[in-house]
Amino acid sequence: MNTMKLCCLNGSQLKSLKRELQILQEQLQADLKAEQSDQLQELNQVSCTEVLDRVEAAAVVVEVNQTSLSHIKQLEEEIRECHSALQRIEAGHYGSCEKCGEEIELNRLMANPAALLCVGCQSRDELHRNRGSESTF
Ligand SMILES: [Zn+2]
Repeated sequence: MNTMKLCCLNGSQLKSLKRELQILQEQLQADLKAEQSDQLQELNQVSCTEVLDRVEAAAVVVEVNQTSLSHIKQLEEEIRECHSALQRIEAGHYGSCEKCGEEIELNRLMANPAALLCVGCQSRDELHRNRGSESTF
């Protein structure tokens, strides 16, 4: 395998980042499973609780759904990022920004191995996202 333009990452750094990503991905998948089964359990509990009247129960279900769904969505997004980063390692373009193609800082990759964008693109992306949608919290 020829080393492409991975100038800032050496083989062992890449290896350890890859392992981190794999572990992270497994953890996220486990979290996702737990969250999904939690959600089902909570819904069952709500429908079994007789104290609550129907309107109250419906409100609780909606609330449980919303917090849990946004968490699930976030987990799915993170899993997608890990997966994508792993694919980029396989393809040999790990470490370069998905948008502008510039190298992503090594420190940034160490802190977040799943980072797909350089700092500049990431902050622009977040700015855009914050403007485009109402607060999710
Ligand atoms: Zn960029």
